[in-house]
Amino acid sequence: MKHFPIFLAVAGRRIVLSGGGHAAMAKLRLLMKTEAHLTVIAAGIAPDIRKWADQGKLRIIERAMAPGDALCAALFYAANEDDAEDARVSEIAKDEGALVNIVDNLADSQFITPAVVDRDPVTVAIGTEGAAPVLARAIKADLEARLPPSLGTLARIGKSFRHAVEVLPMGRKRRAFWTSFYFGAGPKAFADQGEAGIIPALEALLDDKIAATNSAGHVDLVGAGPGDPELLTLKARNALDRADVVIHDRLVTGEILELARREAIIIDAGKEGFGPSMKQAEIDALIVKHALDGHHVVRLKAGDPTVFGRLDEEIEALAEHDIPYRIIPGITAASAAVACIGQSLTKRGRNAAVRLITGHDTKGYADHDWSALAVPGEVAAIYMGKKSARFIQGRLLMHGADPATPVTIIENVSRADQQIIATTLAELEPTLTQAKLEGPAITFYGLAPRDAAISVQNIREFA
Ligand code: SAH
Repeated sequence: MKHFPIFLAVAGRRIVLSGGGHAAMAKLRLLMKTEAHLTVIAAGIAPDIRKWADQGKLRIIERAMAPGDALCAALFYAANEDDAEDARVSEIAKDEGALVNIVDNLADSQFITPAVVDRDPVTVAIGTEGAAPVLARAIKADLEARLPPSLGTLARIGKSFRHAVEVLPMGRKRRAFWTSFYFGAGPKAFADQGEAGIIPALEALLDDKIAATNSAGHVDLVGAGPGDPELLTLKARNALDRADVVIHDRLVTGEILELARREAIIIDAGKEGFGPSMKQAEIDALIVKHALDGHHVVRLKAGDPTVFGRLDEEIEALAEHDIPYRIIPGITAASAAVACIGQSLTKRGRNAAVRLITGHDTKGYADHDWSALAVPGEVAAIYMGKKSARFIQGRLLMHGADPATPVTIIENVSRADQQIIATTLAELEPTLTQAKLEGPAITFYGLAPRDAAISVQNIREFA
C-alpha cells in the first residue's frame, strides 16, 4: 500500500484550488460536498464556478496564484491543466504547509482523491493508486447500485437512535436489529413516507426485537453445593423454583433436584469422570437447544460451577448463540469438606495459599508443581483424586515431601453417608483403595481433622 486511506477532518478548514476550467470544476463538485471553506484562484474562471461563488459555495480570487494564497489550507489542488503553472503553484502551497494534489499527476501529488460513494455520513472511498481507474469506477457503480440512496439519511437518524437500542443484548441481537433496519425496514419506511417515517419504523422494529428477545430463553449456570440442600444459595433455590428445564450433573443429589419446580423437565447429563469431549459437546448442545426453545434452563453443577466444572465450554456455546446467562456460585467441595474437619483452608503462619488441584485432566493424570507442594505447611485440596492417589503420593514423596504429612479424605461431604478418613502421605495408598469409597471424595493434602468432637459437630444432622 503506497497510499494510506484516511478520512480527513475538513469541516471549517480551508481547501484551496488553483485553476478555473474543467479539471477545476470536476474537483469542486466533489469538494463542495464537504463542509470546508473553498477558495478558487485563477486568472480565468468558468461561468459555473462563478455561479457557485454567487451561491456562497466557494470564494473566488481572480488572478494567478501568489505566495500567501495557501496559508492555513489543509489541502491544495493544482488544477490548471498546465504542467508548468501546476508545478509553480504547488511549490507555493507546499511551502505554506498544505498537502498538495496535482490533477492527473500522481507522481508529484502528496495525496490522491479516491472515487467516492456518498451516503453521508456513510462514505466509501475507492482507490487503486492510479493503477486502474476503470476498476475504481466499476466498483463505485456497483456500490452506488447496491447501497440504498436513503442510507445516509438512515445512518444519520439511526445514530440518534443508538442509545435506545442498548436495551437489546450486545452482539448478534443488536447487529441483527441494525441489519434489518438498514436493509429492510429503514429503506421501506423512507420510500413509503420519506424521512418522517424513519423514527416510527425504528421504534416498531425495536418493539419487535424486544418481544422476540423476551420470548427467548436464558440459562442459569448454578452451583448446587456439595449435596446438602441447606448448603444451596438462596439464588440457586430461586432459580430452581422457576426453571423450565434442569440439566444436572451426576453428583447433584436427589434432595436438591426435589427443589426444582414441579413442572420442570429434569435431565441427567451425568457423565462418569471426565468423559470424551463429544459428551461435553452434547451437553452444550442440549443446553443451547432448550434455551433456544425459549426455556429458562438451570444448568445445575455440583459444588461451584467455576471449579473443575467445564463451565467455560458451556458459556462459549451460549455466547455463540447470544443466549443470556448468569453464573450462580455454589459452595465448592473443598469449602464444605474443610468445615467438616474443623480446619481452615488457609491459616496464618501455616499456609498463605491453598491449591485446588485435580487428580485427572482430559489427558489422564494431571501434573502439578510437585516440588512447591512438597514444602512443609503446604495445603492442597485434590478433586477427582481417587484413581490418581498412588500417582500423587509417588510424585510428592519423590519431590521430598514428608511421609508424615497429614492427608484427609472426605467422601460424600455434607451428605448422610459422609465419611472422613484421616491418614498420612505415606499411608494414603493403600488406605484409600482399602476404604473402597463409592461416592465422590475430596483429598486434603497437608490437613488433619482438628479433633473428632469438632468434626462431628460439623456434620449435618439428620433428624
Ligand atoms: N464443581 C465441583 C467439582 C467438580 S469435580 C465443586 O466445586 O465441588 C468433581 C469432584 O469434586 C469429585 O471427584 C470430588 O473430588 C469433588 N466433590 C464434589 N462433590 C463432592 C462431595 N459431596 N464430597 C466430596 N467430594 C466432592
